[in-house]
Amino acid sequence: MQNLLNDISAQASAEPDKGNVATYIPELAGIDPNQFGIAIALADGQVFTAGDADVPFSIQSVSKVFALALALGRVGDQLWQRVGREPSGLAFDSILLLERENGVPRNPFINAGALVTTDTYLAGSSPREALGELLRFVRAAADDDSIHMNEKVARSEIATGHRNFSLAHYLASHGNLRASVDKVLGTYCHQCAVEMTCRQLALAGRFLVDADDMLALVSIERRRRINALMMTCGHYDGSGDFAFRVGMPGKSGVGGGILVISPGRASIAVWSPGLNRYGNSKLGTEAMELFARKTGWSVFGVPHMQIEGDV
Ligand code: GLU
Repeated sequence: MQNLLNDISAQASAEPDKGNVATYIPELAGIDPNQFGIAIALADGQVFTAGDADVPFSIQSVSKVFALALALGRVGDQLWQRVGREPSGLAFDSILLLERENGVPRNPFINAGALVTTDTYLAGSSPREALGELLRFVRAAADDDSIHMNEKVARSEIATGHRNFSLAHYLASHGNLRASVDKVLGTYCHQCAVEMTCRQLALAGRFLVDADDMLALVSIERRRRINALMMTCGHYDGSGDFAFRVGMPGKSGVGGGILVISPGRASIAVWSPGLNRYGNSKLGTEAMELFARKTGWSVFGVPHMQIEGDV
């Protein structure tokens, strides 16, 4: 496994086309695209890393996975009255379907759906309390109390997040937000501004693997369902492409991170800030494609099949 990660990291670093860093959040625009990290945490907690796996990055939409688990913990299946479970086939911040579908977002991973999820775990508490709960969840999953939010990134997004404010106002006009637009956006942007290294994110993702020590955070049934949504909706309008190329549930963020789950086996975090045309990490996706090919770890494959050599 260590040799494989070293090879993947070397190959990624040698790739001349790194994709384009997200610029619509000013704080993220200046990140050096020449960075690549990968970490894998096995179900038993063993960790392997390569490249810039200990450099913190903005997890952005990867946070929507933790937010969804929290919201489901709060209201259970009632969440599905306010947000759907179908891929949108549109960009992460699109407003198009919201009008046609009466303010019920397609899924919890596009921005509109994530705003409803945030509103759900925010219900009845202050943004500070809700964000404290989110951080406690992430820290417990990673077993690492040093994980924090980057205030500058959050403020930078709040100051420029006109699309997300529009989505929130639209949801509110349909009665699909309980808290005020400002509260929901403030909480959402702070949630997206959580920073983690690949090592921390891979460990935090273990709550979606069959790890016995994680059952206090999410039930087996919910874990399965969150994985299903990651597979169908975790990469926006590139979700089909990611499933085709990698064959494992994943959630991407515009910070360039991707969390990938091999159910029963491992949680994998990969990071490189340059994005492809869908807004997902370019080198991260390519690295995961190579990883899946080398290991044979696909939910569509024969269990424990190894395609190329012994890893
Ligand atoms: N905070 C970002 C936004 O709402 C998250 C998008 C993403 O990571 O895909 O625009």
